[in-house]
Amino acid sequence: MSTEQKQPQKILIVGGGTAGWMTANLILKRWKGVEITLVESKDIGIIGVGEGSTPHLKFFFDEIGLKESEWMPQCHATYKNGITFDHWSTIPGFESYFHPFPAQTDDIFTVPIFYENIKARLRGQNVSAHPDSYFLETYLTRQSLGPIPAETFPFGVAYGYHFDSSLLGKFLADRAVAKGVRRIFGAVDEVLIGRDDTIESIRLGDDSIIAADLFVDCSGFQSLLLQSALKIRFKSFKENLFNDAAVVMPTEISDVIPPETRSTALSNGWAWKIPLTNRYGNGYVYSTAYSSPGEAEEELRKHLGLLDANLSVRHLKMKVGRAEKHWEKNCVAVGLSQGFIEPLEATALALSMETITRFLTYFESGSYTYKFQDQFNREINEKFDGVRDYIVCHYKVNQRHDTSYWRDNALNTNISSNLKHVLHLWQSSDDFSKDMYAQSLNGSYQPKSWACLLAGYGVFPPLRNHTQNRDLKLDESMHQLSEFIRKCGLNFPKHNELLMRGNA
Ligand SMILES: Cc1cc2nc3c(=O)[nH]c(=O)nc-3n(C[C@H](O)[C@H](O)[C@H](O)COP(=O)(O)OP(=O)(O)OC[C@H]3O[C@@H](n4cnc5c(N)ncnc54)[C@H](O)[C@@H]3O)c2cc1C
Repeated sequence: MSTEQKQPQKILIVGGGTAGWMTANLILKRWKGVEITLVESKDIGIIGVGEGSTPHLKFFFDEIGLKESEWMPQCHATYKNGITFDHWSTIPGFESYFHPFPAQTDDIFTVPIFYENIKARLRGQNVSAHPDSYFLETYLTRQSLGPIPAETFPFGVAYGYHFDSSLLGKFLADRAVAKGVRRIFGAVDEVLIGRDDTIESIRLGDDSIIAADLFVDCSGFQSLLLQSALKIRFKSFKENLFNDAAVVMPTEISDVIPPETRSTALSNGWAWKIPLTNRYGNGYVYSTAYSSPGEAEEELRKHLGLLDANLSVRHLKMKVGRAEKHWEKNCVAVGLSQGFIEPLEATALALSMETITRFLTYFESGSYTYKFQDQFNREINEKFDGVRDYIVCHYKVNQRHDTSYWRDNALNTNISSNLKHVLHLWQSSDDFSKDMYAQSLNGSYQPKSWACLLAGYGVFPPLRNHTQNRDLKLDESMHQLSEFIRKCGLNFPKHNELLMRGNA
């Protein structure tokens, strides 16, 4: 294929989870006249968790031309302004903070003041540097407001979604099949490799053979094509990220549906609470080195106040890390088959989206050769590692110290040089944001997200005694800032109301 220099005619996607069907829909949109086949196994099934997204999922729907009113009601979806982190820090005043998605008002008006105050607080001055005061989407969330403003509001606001992942997969599958994707149910028994080490075909359990020019591995943690058949090595992140299991259970939804995910630190990991229109999805992500599945389930039940309730409970294992390459020969892996970083910031679908769109772009620009394969692999690895560093930072700077799990995380020295660098800049830089950009440390998360995390945990030196008195000028500017945010908020509807509109 590397010498033919023409668009692949036959594409085979192995795996019908969210990654497989997202890929099918994106290829349908980008490449005309290709024959796409998707093979999935009913017996193996899909992982069926993963209910929170970043704004990338909106970009995906925008790209394939689907309106929210078309898919959200069918997937019990809600809007997400960001994530509240509860009890990751024990420093008084910093027990909780919100990590918002970006809004245009941040950079124009509010975040410069946030940085100024952080700088002063890092010098020991008594100024307000908790992130919750500075972001429009934090305010929206606290007021149960959805992220879509009146048309007259001039600033853009990014947002994500919560959704039922099984229903989303089904929705995307029905759409792709209606547009001509051939869907085959069957288990892949063998991957047949040709003389030039490319994949030629796969053999199913009924001995049928399916050949293609391009193979997309969306087979989940098994990574049947990329890691098993093509022997691409897996780089585990277990030295950095201890969590390797999750227990999941649904609970009843509240009348007011919050436009946020809640992430609460527990004894040996953290629990998510994700609102859908018909239920909450809850899960406890933990490390089996510190907690048994039974103990984790009991702790989650206690946390939810449902110790003896009859709930549908699922236990899952997680393989955390990434493949060393994501595109090898005529195979690209998308989704869990390429890697997975634990779901603290709900980044998996964003990485899948990034992988498939970048792959299609590079493959096209390289005239359907492997010209940009190395560059692609390097960039996707950087994306994964950048997300990993941001997640690792939550554990590294944790202030709990109540169990050996949290103490070991805080003491863990297995952190990347990039993360060490960010932590150094935080303590030493006169202009954190500028230096983060200058040193290309903004690849996966913007400096303001790092600042939210570090300021949200209260990673500050002790206050200097002679600066304990309040600065009246500063109090006035904080008052103006909160008035500005409050007035912006007048342009946004209640989240429940927004959902009703979508469901109409
Ligand atoms: C605890 C947990 C929480 C998560 N939370 C989030 C979140 O909040 N946000 C987020 O974005 N992501 C999250 N994720 C990740 C998310 O679930 C996945 O990225 C997403 O579901 C895509 O999975 P997938 O399609 O790659 O794999 P899967 O859903 O596992 O699909 C694999 C497919 O391959 C098929 N298959 C496998 N072997 C064979 C075979 N031999 N023959 C034929 N077919 C085969 C299966 O039948 C299936 O169709 C979470 C994951 C976990 C474990």
